[in-house]
Amino acid sequence: MRWDDFRCHFNLGLRHTAMPNQPEGPRVSTSDAKNPIKHLSGKELRKLLDRYRVTDGKGFRLKNWDPDDTAGHLIDKAHATALLNGGVEHLSALQEKLYAQDRWSVLCVFQAMDAAGKDGTIKHVLSGVNPQGVTVTSFKAPSPEELKHDFLWRAARALPERGRIGIFNRSHYEETLVVRVHPELLEKQHLPPEVNGKKIWDRRLGAIAGFERFLADQGTVILKFFLHISKDEQKRRFLERLDDKAKNWKFSTADLRERAYWDDYQHVYEKAIAATAAPHAPWYVVPSDNKWFTRLVVVCAIVDALDRLDLRPRDLTADETAALAAARAKLMDE
Ligand code: ATP
Ligand code: MG
Repeated sequence: MRWDDFRCHFNLGLRHTAMPNQPEGPRVSTSDAKNPIKHLSGKELRKLLDRYRVTDGKGFRLKNWDPDDTAGHLIDKAHATALLNGGVEHLSALQEKLYAQDRWSVLCVFQAMDAAGKDGTIKHVLSGVNPQGVTVTSFKAPSPEELKHDFLWRAARALPERGRIGIFNRSHYEETLVVRVHPELLEKQHLPPEVNGKKIWDRRLGAIAGFERFLADQGTVILKFFLHISKDEQKRRFLERLDDKAKNWKFSTADLRERAYWDDYQHVYEKAIAATAAPHAPWYVVPSDNKWFTRLVVVCAIVDALDRLDLRPRDLTADETAALAAARAKLMDE
């Protein structure tokens, strides 16, 4: 599927007039409804992404970002499924090319407070992609072996190969988030006191920024998603997990314990994003009170990043070309 076809899916969703057979009309004002059809071009799609992309942390304040935002009239929920499906399909085609070209690798980092929808977003966005081209790594509390190494060791081991997409469900950032909120966790890391001082968080964020710069220079496309949920919406989702038997398994009392540190987490997320947002490793602060919108922004961001690469099957070496000719000759001789 080409970019223009994908755009067509967007066009589908952006009619500002009610479409036949739509159960729910687009949410537009009466004056907007007089507009015939408003298309979302590639440029407009980028405008959507620009709204949530942070490439320079200077002055970044999380309180200025609305978790309930759905980009105003730009996207209409009634057509979100068609848009998401179009994005998923397009991503699948791009991933095949990424794999065939075997040059770039793609690293998508997902960070969020509990119940913000990391798992569901990863599942939906990647639902059309060949599983052999993707690795998903969930980072939990570090194992004894991992604790014996530097804090980037386990992240480095899980990086995607060329041609692959790597998903980090939580990541190296936890070392500046949960560990910063609960500094007693540092004790388990057996750091020499000389490197475990007041400056540790700035140093860790600096190390992450350097690590990501290095990866980008090696041909890794880095996208970082902070799924930004409000405290009220988290409460609503926790209650849903408690009330709905089918969702009970998703609830953990540890999540409730961490909720008590809400403000601390917002603070450390702000610091982490501010210190590590860069053009080669952007953060997307994705409004996450509405799951349909979260998924849409994430798929658009990945598709956009891949679409910017000139993805074509790599040129064969002379030896490989000769081997193909030999194989053909052999088959024809049968
Ligand atoms: P879900 O709850 O949807 O399954 P999750 O990512 O919250 O997803 P959990 O198993 O509930 O998964 O939690 C993983 C836990 O591991 C989180 O509390 C996280 O903060 C913690 N964790 C991840 N990395 C580190 C780290 N480097 N140091 C300490 N704790 C970490
Ligand atoms: Mg959890």
